[in-house]
Amino acid sequence: MKIGDLGEFSFIERIKPGCLNRKSGIVSGIGDDCAVFQAGKGRAILLTTDMLIEDIHFRRHEIPPRLLGRKSLAASISDIAAMGGTPGEALISIGIPRNLEIDYLDHLYDGLKAIAAEYEINILGGDTVLSPDRLVVNIALTGEEDIEQVLYRDGAKPGDIIFLSGKVGSAAAGLDLLKSGREFEYRIALLESHFNPVPHVWSGRVIASSGLASSMIDISDGLAGDLGHICRDSGVGAAIELDNIPVSKELASYCSLHRLSIENFILYGGEDYVLLGTVPEDSSPALEDALKSQECEYYMIGRITEEKSIKLLYGDGRFRELERSGYDHFHK
Ligand code: ADP
Ligand code: MG
Repeated sequence: MKIGDLGEFSFIERIKPGCLNRKSGIVSGIGDDCAVFQAGKGRAILLTTDMLIEDIHFRRHEIPPRLLGRKSLAASISDIAAMGGTPGEALISIGIPRNLEIDYLDHLYDGLKAIAAEYEINILGGDTVLSPDRLVVNIALTGEEDIEQVLYRDGAKPGDIIFLSGKVGSAAAGLDLLKSGREFEYRIALLESHFNPVPHVWSGRVIASSGLASSMIDISDGLAGDLGHICRDSGVGAAIELDNIPVSKELASYCSLHRLSIENFILYGGEDYVLLGTVPEDSSPALEDALKSQECEYYMIGRITEEKSIKLLYGDGRFRELERSGYDHFHK
């Protein structure tokens, strides 16, 4: 059997047994946006790592190195935000092809340091190695949070409201613009969403500290896949309403101008790095108030169901069932 036959998610399940040798203090190991362990009384340390490989996650000639640096760290910051935490310390490792210009690496680190400064992250170390021909960037990042406030993927309950902390689909539309070379008046806005996503750390903090939400994840693989993770881990299903899913006006106009399906960008476009969560219906108004009083966005897009399918509801009463699986690196 090859990894392509098994797939990313089954592979991760397969390696789980035997990973924990000291269980004391471990709140959550493999399976969520971050690992969580206890650090002192009432505090949790969050830990996440992400790897970006040239020609899989980015193309060197498409993204300026400064933005690649920003985006690499933004993905890890978003995993901390997904648990409701505050980012802390980073280790950054790079595999560099021999012929890469020093200028390129200087700009990569300018981007890394700029976003680290914005989120008060310390870069405490890493590793530098030779790579055969592709650039590799790996980031490990810690976060911190009250242990009682940490939000996981497995807490959603039937009847809960499903919410988003921002608009989705624009990052994927930016990538589509790049790949297709299409003309578009608001090109810059969509490219900005793709190249320079903003992790929702403050929204995550407001949601977690309110104590109201029941589950949370960040949208890295696309709404359908990431909602699928919440549903699978919580043992529930979901029904979301297409008309309630927030999109930017640039995405709406790009799709109507070029006759593209907005649904594809909304459901399967990744890397928006907004937060997707669930909250009991009674608590939804209070969560909305808490977020809006902090100038954060809150959109209700559907409901958790007992029935384990994920349904997309259209305005005219029709619906269709969505695939529950997220983006899998190994499935073609
Ligand atoms: P995210 O998209 O939020 O970064 P992933 O889908 O990459 O999350 O990972 C899901 C879970 O599987 C995480 O808990 C992650 O730490 C774990 N994981 C992924 N790959 C490995 C691996 N090779 N060894 C151990 N754990 C892994
Ligand atoms: Mg994540």
